Amino acid sequence: MHARPVADEILAEKAIATVRNGLGKARLKNGGSKVKYMICVDIGTTSTKAVLYDLKGNVKQSANSEYQLYQTEPEMAEEDPEEILAAVIEVLQRVVQGAKLNPGELQGISFSAAMHSLILVDHENKLLTRAITWADNRAAKYSKELLAQGVGQQIYAHTGTPIHPMAPLSKIIWLRNEKKDLFQKAAYFIDIKTYVFYQLFHVYRMEYSLASATGLFNIFTLDWDEQALAVAGIERSQLPKLVSPTASIQGLAEIYCKAIGISADVPFIYGASDGVLSNLGVNAIDPGVLAVTIGTSGAVRTVLDHPVVDPQGRLFCYALTKDKWVVGGPVNNGGIVFRWVRDQLFAPEKTPVKQLQVPTYEALTQIASEIPAGADGLLFHPYLGGERAPLWNADARGSFFGLTRQHTRAHLVRAALEGIVYNLYMVVLMIEKVSGKPTRIQATGGFAQSELWRQILADVFEQQVTIPASFESSCLGAAVLGMYSLKLVDSLNVVKKMVGVTHVHTPKAENFAVYRELLPIWIRLAHAVSPEYSAIAAFQRKHLKAK
Ligand code: ADP
Repeated sequence: MHARPVADEILAEKAIATVRNGLGKARLKNGGSKVKYMICVDIGTTSTKAVLYDLKGNVKQSANSEYQLYQTEPEMAEEDPEEILAAVIEVLQRVVQGAKLNPGELQGISFSAAMHSLILVDHENKLLTRAITWADNRAAKYSKELLAQGVGQQIYAHTGTPIHPMAPLSKIIWLRNEKKDLFQKAAYFIDIKTYVFYQLFHVYRMEYSLASATGLFNIFTLDWDEQALAVAGIERSQLPKLVSPTASIQGLAEIYCKAIGISADVPFIYGASDGVLSNLGVNAIDPGVLAVTIGTSGAVRTVLDHPVVDPQGRLFCYALTKDKWVVGGPVNNGGIVFRWVRDQLFAPEKTPVKQLQVPTYEALTQIASEIPAGADGLLFHPYLGGERAPLWNADARGSFFGLTRQHTRAHLVRAALEGIVYNLYMVVLMIEKVSGKPTRIQATGGFAQSELWRQILADVFEQQVTIPASFESSCLGAAVLGMYSLKLVDSLNVVKKMVGVTHVHTPKAENFAVYRELLPIWIRLAHAVSPEYSAIAAFQRKHLKAK
């Protein structure tokens, strides 16, 4: 990619091109008024959102702007930083103008962003790369090497970031080996939020929540890790200066003040990563509370007051604040597996004459609810997309086990929903070793639309499951962190009053008795078939390539 100017008027013009109609409108000054609001900006992988909250957590206005994920070569997943900057300005402008705020009402703007992105910038602050996202797997060879050499485990023990191609550590080693020219020209290695803040304020700073997900940050000293830097082959001067997630900055560049319609004295709070902020935003920051997400992918996370690492390197530990550390595991195979069941197992065959509709998720969960817990002994391992936690094996593959002639398609659905939850339960067993038994579960994501699936979660985990009623949990988390940073609230615990409840499920004894019998078999099987995953994955790669 050609180097392009970043910190100049041309880019600012480009960024505001989509929001021109807001230029010249009255600008909001900070201070004075009785009604107070915070805006959160959440920079996601395929879109950026801005949400305006009052200090009680009520949503007053929101805006969303999508952009492309570039995937023009195998395993690539990149975003264009300039498109993201334009999206940030656009959503801010839409929210500020749409809410018709009075001067003094906007207290600050607080940020959330996706973890693990990497951007290379040259000595003139020009972009050398796009943002290489967490979903980019081109560094796989180098993360495998780090683990094979044993140095990966040593670095994980200081950084709490599992050794994986998602992490900037592996990506930098990949670039050093395979994109030598770019690597040599790179003056700075930054992430997408650092890039956006650089454009707005002209300084490179990174808060230590996102830093703690780079694989380069020592979670015990809150500083860049010397061993990780040496292995990456970079100097600490090539990384941003570290600041606290509650740090803020003022003095927004004039051209952006005009574009958004705010004054330069509005504080911008650095904020944290979307993962840890979503724990805050669903009210899962007290000891013993687990936040479980089943969206397209899945995750299980809990908060401790100190950093911890897993002896086998399977859990992440990322910072929210100095005394709140989010420990957990990211899971590839969440709702995307149910989508596969719907689209591949239940779609009628396409004919040239007629394209028939796939059934709805509601119809499928309805037929699955008529099958007893445990699907009459049909087990499903959901590893259709390789797996991060609990296996950390990109070659893992899915399987149904225990099929008999008595099993029906409805059993397949039930087994799939249960298998996704069993897999998350395996992650919980790992988390329990460092944090103790969970006492409560706050669960979010598309799965929560299904009563059956919510009950399966309560029954397999043998815990009460609460579905919080909050809009955009990472955004709410960032807004609360922003309020805390500006001393508008006394503690992060105010979130408790902001997050409502939509459903509560209590485990049913007759069901968890069945799961207690099946889970050990499911776990033993997962280990038993795992030596064959690489062989079957190699076969698939070879023959898929040949087609
Ligand atoms: P994302 O993580 O991409 O934001 P969502 O949180 O919206 O995704 O979750 C999408 C997933 O939720 C789907 O793939 C599907 O498995 C599941 N889902 C969506 N609607 C339903 C439903 N009515 N019943 C059961 N599962 C559902």
